[in-house]
Parts: sequence; C-alpha cells; structure tokens
Amino acid sequence: MIFAIAISIFCTLGSPDETMQVAIQPLGAVPAKSIAAVKQGLVRTYGIEVSILKPVALPKEAFHAPRNRYRAEKLLTFLGETPGSYAKVLGITARDISTTKDGHKDWGLFGLGQMPGNACVLSSFRLGRKGPKTRDQRLTEVANHELGHTFGLDHCSTSRCVMADAKGSIKTVDISTGNLCGKCKDKL
Ligand SMILES: [Zn+2]
Ligand SMILES: [Zn+2]
Repeated sequence: MIFAIAISIFCTLGSPDETMQVAIQPLGAVPAKSIAAVKQGLVRTYGIEVSILKPVALPKEAFHAPRNRYRAEKLLTFLGETPGSYAKVLGITARDISTTKDGHKDWGLFGLGQMPGNACVLSSFRLGRKGPKTRDQRLTEVANHELGHTFGLDHCSTSRCVMADAKGSIKTVDISTGNLCGKCKDKL
C-alpha cells in the first residue's frame, strides 16, 4: 500500500529529465530576450525540454483593482488549465503580482510556485532595481526557484542556493549563486 502511494506521488511530480516538456507562457507583453534568458536557465538547471508558447492576455479574474496588480494564486489556476501535454507551465508577466502571505492580505511577489504541482508564475516587475544583477538574471533565478517548488523542493537553508527564501528582498536574490546546492540536487 505504502509502495503504491509512493509510486503515484512520484508519477504526479515527475523527475526533471530531457523527456520532460515544460512550457513558458508569456502573460501579456514580455520581452523576447527575457523569455530566452529564462528558457536557457531552466534547460541548464533542470535538463528539461522547454517550449515557448504564444503570449496570452492576463486573465481578468486574477486582476486585483485596489492595488493594480494580479493575484498570483489565480494565475496559477489559469496556467494549470493550459492546453497541451506539458508536465509543467511557467507563466511570466511584467505586471506586479501578489498573494496572501504571513498575515499580509496582499503581499507583492517575485514569483509563486505550487509545491509540488504543475504551475508557477514569475513577475519581472520588482526585479529591475539597481544592483549587481540585471533584471533578466534575477528573473532567471526566480524561474529556477519557482520551478524547483513544482518539483517538491522546499526552501533551502543554504543561503546562496537558488532555493533559499528571498523573503521579498532583492538582496537575497543577488547573493544567490543562481544554482541548486548539492542537497537540493539530490532531492530531485
Ligand atoms: Zn520559494
Ligand atoms: Zn539548496
């Protein structure tokens, strides 16, 4: 019985390899060079097959008018309904995104991923501040982080691991190596 359960969880999560199909879904206008950077980062980190889908408009039902931004958990539901046989779908938007977190009703985010699951979403909106890394470098790291969550990886206590909790701070993103640490790689 336990064996059967373990098998079914494994099949749901999947393991990253070159046969796994992951789609990038641009939500609204996203620069092609940003999407290309994210794709390259995902292929390098997880060794998966990445397709880039045609952009679609952000879903109206996810819009949070009081703050002029989009609710990330609703974007995940939307991305989960993407047609096609993709194991996972990663949404990218230039608009601001938020969710309810740690007692904050509407907390702005860099990204959000199901853990585990099939959908994650990133926003470049908060990643452009001056610093040692470019917006696209940061976006690529957030992509690797959020996709890691979909594979069941939790936050990592190794501070420079890409799975470290950014806690909403660009500094945390900027000290990261951008790669998975050995412990996180072993869990995949
Ligand atoms: Zn996280
Ligand atoms: Zn780690």
